Amino acid sequence: PAVIVAIDGPSGTGKSSTSKAVAAQLGLSYLDTGAQYRAITWWMVNNGIDITDPSAIAAAAEKPEIISGTDPTGPTITVDGADVAGPIRTQEVTSKVSAVSAVPEVRARITELQRSLAGSAEHGIVVEGRDIGTTVLPDADLKVFLTASPEARAARRSGELKGSDIHQTREALLKRDAADSNRKTSPLAKADDAVEVDTSDLTLQQVIECVVTLVEE
Ligand code: C5P
Repeated sequence: PAVIVAIDGPSGTGKSSTSKAVAAQLGLSYLDTGAQYRAITWWMVNNGIDITDPSAIAAAAEKPEIISGTDPTGPTITVDGADVAGPIRTQEVTSKVSAVSAVPEVRARITELQRSLAGSAEHGIVVEGRDIGTTVLPDADLKVFLTASPEARAARRSGELKGSDIHQTREALLKRDAADSNRKTSPLAKADDAVEVDTSDLTLQQVIECVVTLVEE
């Protein structure tokens, strides 16, 4: 039967690298739900939606067509047919995504896409995000919650963003996590039945092995 793995946690914990590698190793599909929220945010920004106005965001939530390719060795994301893998990673989108993803109509729309992809994955899927174990797939076979110290997370993110300032990166990251944790609808949270893994002092390879072992148990 198809195996469903939910991997949640804040940014900079190694969630994406871990989820992709685990999916590839086990022959499962992979879904980056952060990319979906980034894609809808990118569309809002590019279509002149006032992102300080939740009702304007809500009214537009159904408009963009968002398609995720779920091959872990080459995940893709398109909006209305355009490849947005690059544009969704800009600082502008990153700074606005928490506000857009706090709008209940946006979450309802994206959650529906996520459940449909998870339900149609032939061998199963690894889904990474913030509310997968709590809200999107509460019946997942395995739930993992990745954590790491703010220092470890900021260091990882700075390593990814060439030429960035580590203090600025740390502040922006903590601000985004606070917004994601404090929103009313499906906040970033550990499910009661999730296994928590602190990745601060682990290598990526160790985290991958740990999660693969948990899936196989
Ligand atoms: O994982 P990533 O950092 O790309 O996620 C970008 C943003 O998307 C998060 O900061 C959060 O605001 C939103 N998000 C969410 N729920 C998810 C995944 C991401 O609200 N399941």
